[in-house]
Parts: sequence; C-alpha cells; structure tokens
Amino acid sequence: MKIDKKWLLLLFIPLLGSMSQGNWGFWAHRRINRLAVFRLPAEMQVFYKQNMDFIVEEAVGPDKRRYSVVGEAERHYIDIDSYHVPDGEVIPKEWKRAVERFGEDSLRKHGIAPWNIERVCFQLTEAFSKGQKSRILRLSADLGHYIADIHVPLHTTRNYNGQFTDQVGIHGLWESRLPELFADEYDLWIGSIVYRPFISEAIWSAVYASHIACDSVFDFERLASKRIAADRKYSYESRNNILVRTYSESFAREYERLLNGQVERRMRAAIGLIGDIWYTCWVNAGQPNLTNLEHATPLVEGIEKKSADTSQTGNGRPLPVRPEPDD
Ligand SMILES: [Zn+2]
Repeated sequence: MKIDKKWLLLLFIPLLGSMSQGNWGFWAHRRINRLAVFRLPAEMQVFYKQNMDFIVEEAVGPDKRRYSVVGEAERHYIDIDSYHVPDGEVIPKEWKRAVERFGEDSLRKHGIAPWNIERVCFQLTEAFSKGQKSRILRLSADLGHYIADIHVPLHTTRNYNGQFTDQVGIHGLWESRLPELFADEYDLWIGSIVYRPFISEAIWSAVYASHIACDSVFDFERLASKRIAADRKYSYESRNNILVRTYSESFAREYERLLNGQVERRMRAAIGLIGDIWYTCWVNAGQPNLTNLEHATPLVEGIEKKSADTSQTGNGRPLPVRPEPDD
C-alpha cells in the first residue's frame, strides 16, 4: 500500500513531540518559570504572558552557557559544607565581606549562587526603571533559573552527586527523574504574591532550607536502595532513540514516597520566591508601566548581549565545570 507523504509526516509529529521532552531537568526549570508568571499581579502578568515563550525557553539559558561563559558555572550552586565557620558565625551575606573573609578564589570554587542572585536582582530592578524590555525579560528568565537551582538541596553541598557516599547519580534522580515521573501529581499553585523587603535574607533562607534537606536526600536514597533489590534499582529506557540506564520507576516511586513531598515542596518554594522577587524588583523600580515598553525590541539581540553582560562577574579564570544530568 502506498502511503501519502503527508500522512507519514503526521504520524511522526507526535513522536518528535515526545522526543523533545527528553531533557527533564530542563523541563522542570521551564515549568517553574512558567508557573511563576501566574503568580504576578495583573500589571506585570500581561507583559510576562505576552513574552511567555521567552521566559519559559530561556529558563534553561544559564545551564546552556555554563561551559561557554567564563564565571557562569559557579553561579548555580554553593557548597555550604565547604565553609568551616565557627559556631554562631555565618557565611557573610554581603559579597564584599565574604571576599574579605574567604578570598574570591575560594568563594568561586565553592559556588557563588546567593550573591549572584542578589546581583541579578539589582540588574533587573535597574532594567525595570529604565524600561529596557529585552533586558527585563532575559534577567527575569535567568533569575528564575538561579532561584530554582538554590531550591535543590544538592546544589548546596560538595557531595552534589553522591560521589563521596557511593550514591553517584543521585543529583539527576532528585532533580530530573522524580519531577519527570511525579510532577503532574504535585500541587504547584501558590497563593498571592508577597513583597520581599529583604531580598538577601530571602535568598539565604532558601539556601539554608535546601541545605538542611540534604540529610533526607541522602538517607532516604540509602533506605530505598535497601528496600528495592539491586537488580530492580535501574532500568533501561529509550530517550531520543538511545537506550539509557536510569533509575527504575519502582525505585523512584519508593524514594519519592520516603521523601514525603520534599521535591514538591522545594518546587513550590522556588515558584513562590521567583514570582515574589520579580515582583519586588518591579516595586523597587517604582512599579513602571510595562504596557508602554517598545514592542519591537528584538529578543535575539537580548540573547546575544547576554554573554557579555553575565560575564562581568567572572574573574577571567575558568573553573572546572560541575557536570549536570542535562549535559
Ligand atoms: Zn543551573
């Protein structure tokens, strides 16, 4: 039987659609940025919705440029447990004081996520007050990514992939595999927006809340590994036509059950804080009217400029890039 080419094409479209979702860590970032938009007040939401594709797609921009932009890699994490501070002393929230205390090289080596978020907040507030549409959009998208990252417990520890505890692969399990399988069951709708007068405090609380959760992340993986037989821990799945070894669904389900909503809670907190901080930057800029921003600003230009802009805090010396499951 001769099949019309048109029909063949139609048969392939759904296949291509499902293939493009293969990148699950990226998927979570996109979903988080999308849901954060729905938290915004009407004066902001109209503008963000008009540019939803950009906000969602560029949610993964910072990860894509981790290898190409000097100084980018260390913006995605902070190894809290690398800092040996005496009891009662905390890591300085202010970048200058932190540099004085630990030295810039050491800070960059252990990750600078919270300080970087504060810097991007400052830039976003400035972009709002100057009415720079492209800049507002790309800084908002970037901020969404960085804030989401600090809500992942494994972005706050030097044992970020279980490499010191014989749990290699746990990073992708927690932040990619679990949302891939269970995020549709999560309740990710959050109440009304909150103005955050102390941005830095809010960022550091999120970091410490993530870090405190690390114990459960590791302990419950160990417990799940005892409960699920070793030969059932992993399975093979086809991704983009390649057979990949991944944590089995039964193992992931047991781990998710033991974590008792932890991934959902961290995702919710991320969505909440992203919306709140976009809103706070806008309020701090004097609540500018976003409907009057020029419509024709080419977003492509914004993407190209991004590398130059974001490399400002890089010290020109590349650090080894910490691999992520989505690389
Ligand atoms: Zn990241």
